[in-house]
Amino acid sequence: MNLHEYQGKEVLNKYGVKIQRGNVAKTPEEAVKMAQRLTDSTGTQWYVIKAQVHAGGRGKGGGVKLAKSLDEVKEISSKILGMKLVTPQTSAEGKTVHQVLIAEDVYYPGESEPQEYYMSVLLDRAKGQNMIMYSPEGGMDIEEVAEKMPEKIFTEIIDPAVGLRPFQANRIAFNLGVDGDAFKDMVRFVFSLYKAYVESDASMFEINPVLKTSDNQIMAVDCKVSLDDNALFRHKDLAELRDKREEDPTEVEAGEAGLNFVKLDGNVGCMVNGAGLAMATMDIIKLSGGSPANFLDVGGTADAERVEKAFRIILRDENVNAILVNIFGGIVRCDRVAQGIIDAYKNMGDAIQVPIIVRLQGTNAEEAKKMIDESGLQVHSAITLQEAADKVKEVVG
Ligand code: GDP
Ligand code: MN
Repeated sequence: MNLHEYQGKEVLNKYGVKIQRGNVAKTPEEAVKMAQRLTDSTGTQWYVIKAQVHAGGRGKGGGVKLAKSLDEVKEISSKILGMKLVTPQTSAEGKTVHQVLIAEDVYYPGESEPQEYYMSVLLDRAKGQNMIMYSPEGGMDIEEVAEKMPEKIFTEIIDPAVGLRPFQANRIAFNLGVDGDAFKDMVRFVFSLYKAYVESDASMFEINPVLKTSDNQIMAVDCKVSLDDNALFRHKDLAELRDKREEDPTEVEAGEAGLNFVKLDGNVGCMVNGAGLAMATMDIIKLSGGSPANFLDVGGTADAERVEKAFRIILRDENVNAILVNIFGGIVRCDRVAQGIIDAYKNMGDAIQVPIIVRLQGTNAEEAKKMIDESGLQVHSAITLQEAADKVKEVVG
């Protein structure tokens, strides 16, 4: 699950990270009210208006703008609210903006030039440890920095059992080239950011840019957060921040039905129990000359209701011209699954117009195959993986 910028910043702020003050608005009128409130509390006359969508590169797509008066706040937020924002990280059709963040402008002039840095905390899966990645070249895409100036990207590996050590935070501040009060502030920033990452069970916190203001304060100007879905059960407050409008509607629906579904762009739908078997099934489809249209793990209970829901979700995709069902019957017996498939199929009437290949292996597999063969339905049965692969080849080939 991902968070919006304003939500991520609120989390950071709880851990002591400085952020620019601001509030979200859903209408231009509300935006003006928020801007007025900011001026009353901070004295700021300039405001930054930022589209809140789950995608980076908003600045490039026209989703981040500076307003120098309340009239401009109204004008700019009317343009951004409701727009389909296209950025390098969205699809070509873009994402609808439902909310904007109205924040104080923190790039004000002062004793020094504002400086932008990059910092993220993420999981280094290969090392099994956390990593802070950072660069003095902030503000622009980190991919671009990696390509053009790889020497400007630094990493600090953190043993999760030991935690971030003071010498590591000091090294980060040093490599970023900050000094004086800003050095101490940066060290505090790194500690707070790392704590927020660990205690939220996040898989990523990315702050780009981290800003050193002209009066030497270190703050988060942007914030991208990915949380570990499997840990959300112990973060009720964070789970509530979910914005389903930002997610694929079919994936949301599948999740509600207890199905683990990810849409892909191939032509063979698949319905499998267990993530490992799902991966293997996608490989088989590829080897048979097809291409998987989805990843779908129905979990432990392949009953008629769930199978029907899964069929309906798979068939919503117009590219699907065959479905491969690959179920291992261990705890759930194959004959029960076969019955579920037959019931779902009968229930759906004409909704199924593509060939279905069913491979059931495990407890009572022979009996299950017989049930499917005798059902009179347009279903091809298989017991071995090779048989299933050959049938896929036959129908898509
Ligand atoms: P992104 O484009 O989605 O990564 O959105 P960011 O929050 O990173 O904003 C893009 C750019 O807008 C930043 O790199 C800044 O240069 C600029 N920006 C963000 N906040 C402010 C602000 O308060 N004042 C000014 N002048 N520029 C800002
Ligand atoms: Mn950014």
